[in-house]
Amino acid sequence: MMTGRHGKPWLPATQPCFFREADQGLATVEEVDDARQPDGGHGVLYCRQCHAPVTSTQERLKVLGKHCHVFPNPEGMVFEIGCFGLAPGCGQQGPPVFQYSWFPPHAWSLALCQTCKTHLGWYYEAIGKSSFHGLILNRLVEEWT
Ligand SMILES: [Zn+2]
Repeated sequence: MMTGRHGKPWLPATQPCFFREADQGLATVEEVDDARQPDGGHGVLYCRQCHAPVTSTQERLKVLGKHCHVFPNPEGMVFEIGCFGLAPGCGQQGPPVFQYSWFPPHAWSLALCQTCKTHLGWYYEAIGKSSFHGLILNRLVEEWT
């Protein structure tokens, strides 16, 4: 397998821009300004599989300047993920992994639905930086309260 200059395998050329962004040291986490709805309500995001509450629209974050990101994994599956702070409906599984991270220097672990154990995305953490969830958007459904 070919490897990049950081020893990471190259991913398909159609994507991703994260190597460039990471090389520029832009792995920052910032809050989204418009996360809170003007009517005071907030959207709850539910597991599409079991309809358990997972997180809310108020937890939306921007990471590397964007809330939504599209990434291929090393197997070539493409995921559209949204970045969220807290996701009480998710449980982390496994130790943090640095390899293949879409948000270096953050390491990832799997984020599963606490209720039905569906794979909802990944939990990202890094020493000295904000942790966050990257959740697969088409595995969530949104309702407004
Ligand atoms: Zn579920």
